[in-house]
Amino acid sequence: MSSHSESDFDDVLKTARKTMIEKHLRQREITDPRVLTAIESVPREEFVPQDSRRFAYNDCALPIDCHQTISQPFTVAFMCAAAQLTGNETVLEIGTGSGYGAAVLSQLAREVHTVERIPELASQAAERLQRLGYDNVHVYTDDGTLGLPQAAPFDAIIVTASSEQLPEPYQEQLNEGGRIIIPLGSESTGQRMYRFTLHGGRLSEEILGAFVFVPLIGKFGHPSDRPE
Ligand code: SAH
Repeated sequence: MSSHSESDFDDVLKTARKTMIEKHLRQREITDPRVLTAIESVPREEFVPQDSRRFAYNDCALPIDCHQTISQPFTVAFMCAAAQLTGNETVLEIGTGSGYGAAVLSQLAREVHTVERIPELASQAAERLQRLGYDNVHVYTDDGTLGLPQAAPFDAIIVTASSEQLPEPYQEQLNEGGRIIIPLGSESTGQRMYRFTLHGGRLSEEILGAFVFVPLIGKFGHPSDRPE
């Protein structure tokens, strides 16, 4: 490809990003201007496999390595908006995957800690986030159902894989007023996005909508019984 057509392709992607924000986010009730600006600033094409770059701004999940997926932009925007971030927060993301969600969160919070259980994905994401200059993101390889005690407490915990119940360790790693955004449910009942908010030592819960996620696998999630 000549450099001319490469820059044409970059322009096409930029236009596609703007169209996606208009059509799939703004028109579907994502109105938080900070979230829209964050999505607009992150080049999603850098987080998908080379041969999917031209699909980067279709509003859908796409396969990445290790049988995992990069979340749909609408879902990323929805979870970020649900977390009600103002810019000063310390955030924990569970399920780094491609690193895209962490990159978006890095534009909305002060510090982002993100945990991935598959070492290969964690190291690819860490390399990519560093190359793209997302300096306030820290990537860890571990079982994220344990939370991340060494970096706690958090103002928000965002879980990008689904579990049947809320992993126990999260509550004690949350600041007063903190939020946990997590899809809960089983394959038979379907998954709902929950927001838990901590007030006076108690979590209140709200159900925000129906979504589909890959399973959260770990001590306080699904057992690891299927091959990766
Ligand atoms: N936020 C990601 C979406 C990744 S999909 C993105 O923007 O690309 C969910 C990810 O959660 C997968 O990579 C999966 O390996 C990971 N995962 C599943 N169970 C986990 C656990 N217990 N701890 C950490 N990561 C987990």
